[in-house]
Amino acid sequence: MGEITDRVRNHLIQIPNNVLLVAAIKSRTLDEVNEAVAAGISAVGENYVQEAENIFPGLGRPVEKHFIGHLQKNKVKKAVPLFDVIETVDSVELAAEIDRRCGEIGKVMRILIEVNSGREGQKAGVFPENVGSLVTELQGFRNIELTGFMTMGPWLEDPEKLRPYFRETNLLFQRYRNERIRSLSMGMSDSWRIAVEEGANIVRIGTALFGPRPKRKD
Ligand SMILES: *Cc1c(COP(=O)(O)O)cnc(C)c1O
Repeated sequence: MGEITDRVRNHLIQIPNNVLLVAAIKSRTLDEVNEAVAAGISAVGENYVQEAENIFPGLGRPVEKHFIGHLQKNKVKKAVPLFDVIETVDSVELAAEIDRRCGEIGKVMRILIEVNSGREGQKAGVFPENVGSLVTELQGFRNIELTGFMTMGPWLEDPEKLRPYFRETNLLFQRYRNERIRSLSMGMSDSWRIAVEEGANIVRIGTALFGPRPKRKD
């Protein structure tokens, strides 16, 4: 049995049943991803549209596909048919482009608002205090369905230090939660336990399933 199979099974056992494990597959090979899928992964997260185009047609079994990277507007047209969920919407302009491209192909896209819970100027995501107005603006689009919130949190060595950022994002989630707004995506390889304690029902895990990432060449 391969190492990826072992790690996937271990995580599926440990992660509560109501929490979706999204395997973060950026920079992994099709064989690696398919080993994870064969071991029971039911959702994958991809950061790059180009990689998705290469990997998705070769997947051994249908899985839910989440876009978890930074989405440039000029990539939306290609992204929309490939993905089931876009987790990283952080502006009304991006939402409008997703809505427009979904309209062209008759699709309703589930989206999450990416929250910049660390309020870091250089990072993607909406500051917590600006989430409410984006939630309101998204109500005008017919081809997107807001289904929740996602956050990364600041980069910190000690995952315990992420707890306040996860907690603040969960407070936002609880404020807007309803039948549709039901997903809270937080936590990665080192921090998923803390994220789940703080209310996450989607965790995005790469390194702990696949091992250290190879360096990207671009
Ligand atoms: C790469 C990535 C992950 C997974 O990170 P690991 O530390 O490898 O588990 C999760 N979320 C996003 C948005 C990512 O880009």
